[in-house]
Amino acid sequence: MPSYLDGRFVDVAAPDGELTVRSPADLDDLVGVHPWSLAHVDDAVAAARRAAPAWDDAGLDARVALVRKLRDAVAAHEDAVAHAITREMGKVLREGRAEAKAMVAKVDISIDEGLALTRDVSLDGGRLAWRHRPHGVMAVIGPFNFPLHLAHGHIVPALLAGNTVVFKPSEVTPGCGELYARIADGVGFPPGVVNVVQGAGAAGARLATHPDVDGVLFTGSYGVGTEIIRANASRPGRMLALEMGGRNAAVVLDDAPFDKAVADVLLSAFSTAGQRCTCASRLIVAKGVAERFVAAVAERAARVKVGHPLDPGAFHGPLASPAAKARFERFEAMADAEGTACVFDPVEPAVSFEGRAVRGCYVAPRVRRVTNPSRESPYQREEVFGPDLAVWVADDDDHALALANDTDYGLAAGVWTASEARFERLARGLRVGCVTWNAPTVGSSSRLPFGGLKNSGNHRPAGVFSSTYCAWPLAVTRGSSSYDPSSLPPGLGAASASKP
Ligand code: NAD
Repeated sequence: MPSYLDGRFVDVAAPDGELTVRSPADLDDLVGVHPWSLAHVDDAVAAARRAAPAWDDAGLDARVALVRKLRDAVAAHEDAVAHAITREMGKVLREGRAEAKAMVAKVDISIDEGLALTRDVSLDGGRLAWRHRPHGVMAVIGPFNFPLHLAHGHIVPALLAGNTVVFKPSEVTPGCGELYARIADGVGFPPGVVNVVQGAGAAGARLATHPDVDGVLFTGSYGVGTEIIRANASRPGRMLALEMGGRNAAVVLDDAPFDKAVADVLLSAFSTAGQRCTCASRLIVAKGVAERFVAAVAERAARVKVGHPLDPGAFHGPLASPAAKARFERFEAMADAEGTACVFDPVEPAVSFEGRAVRGCYVAPRVRRVTNPSRESPYQREEVFGPDLAVWVADDDDHALALANDTDYGLAAGVWTASEARFERLARGLRVGCVTWNAPTVGSSSRLPFGGLKNSGNHRPAGVFSSTYCAWPLAVTRGSSSYDPSSLPPGLGAASASKP
């Protein structure tokens, strides 16, 4: 794809690299080849910088009108968006469609509810006030798992606040980024307000450290997020909003609604083949129900239909790339080596679609019983990001809470119990940004804040709160032009002020 710079599609004349993308659903399906260059990152930032003052001056009404046009354009391309996501990163089409719909919904939520969080405030008859000002040029760096919704979730509030944007999609999903550029191009934004560049991590690093960028809105792994922090350590004024990984717990107490909890835990663990930041990858289950509950989850997990993402009968599709599959297999080998055995024999799926066997990045779900808890085990501590659920058994609620919090991450947790009081007690103790009660950990509402504690984020929650990091509060104090010498402190020499 050419880069989208200053309102034009510009070919990459001197590439620093090339992204060749094959569908993880069918590795014989070549999705696209995308050359990229660091020079285009610089050009995009320069275009965004030039466009920023006029975009700010245009005023909120003009920006709202264009962002609503963006919403309508995404809605008009909903099918193409869903298919592009599904083909490029392998989530089932049902989920691709849900992602496209979430993008449409994000616009009105940002306008109607997000902007309310950054409304101008006037106190004391207007003597004191604060109002929100845009940062300027925002770099938006996206992950592969929600290749458009999450970037769009930063872009929309950033534009509304009066910032211009340079978006670099994941190297796994450049075709989705290209489609977004083409949709934005049809909206009629002034040139330079929205720019899209492609590239591997080096392009992200160039953008995140560019001297003319004012903010970095990042969604991705803890490792890359902390690289961005380190690279910006000497720029305390740069807005960094970092949405990072999770090692989320599903906590099932002994009075949980059993069948509902089984279904919710399966949805939490294996939606999108476990590749959602909110997926539950740890099941913490009360000992009174543990045997029965784990058996029920395992029995259903062993039967999950893994299939081609266009197969309407498939529950989940492949992992997003050969690299993602290799990484998953490394964690599985570690788990096997440390004796954290799968409670059933996983059968690797043989997938066919439209009567033809396909070669893709498919893996079967796992449910593993942790019998040797260890803080040194990368399998037990790190984000596996695949269909793998590790099980711990808790003696009581306090033990369950301690196990749930015994992680370096703090994004999401779910609690299943019939008792609101028990839920509330756990919710108060859980060190996470998002908690659910008798509901899957996945499927968060864009009307809520969305972010994590500890290694999951830097206290800049996205979701509806994304408006708050797209603008800074300017405190304004109004004095008076009337001069009253008697109000001055003694010794200020007020009398001499009137001498020529
Ligand atoms: P990743 O961290 O590997 O890559 C994310 C983006 O960062 C890509 O565009 C990549 O090119 C870019 N990048 C790589 N190196 C960079 C650098 N040095 N400087 C700047 N940018 C750089 O993440 P991923 O594998 O694409 O996505 C999966 C991860 O994202 C998981 O950890 C998942 O939990 C997390 N995630 C978090 C949220 C959330 O809201 N908290 C949502 C979705 C995904």
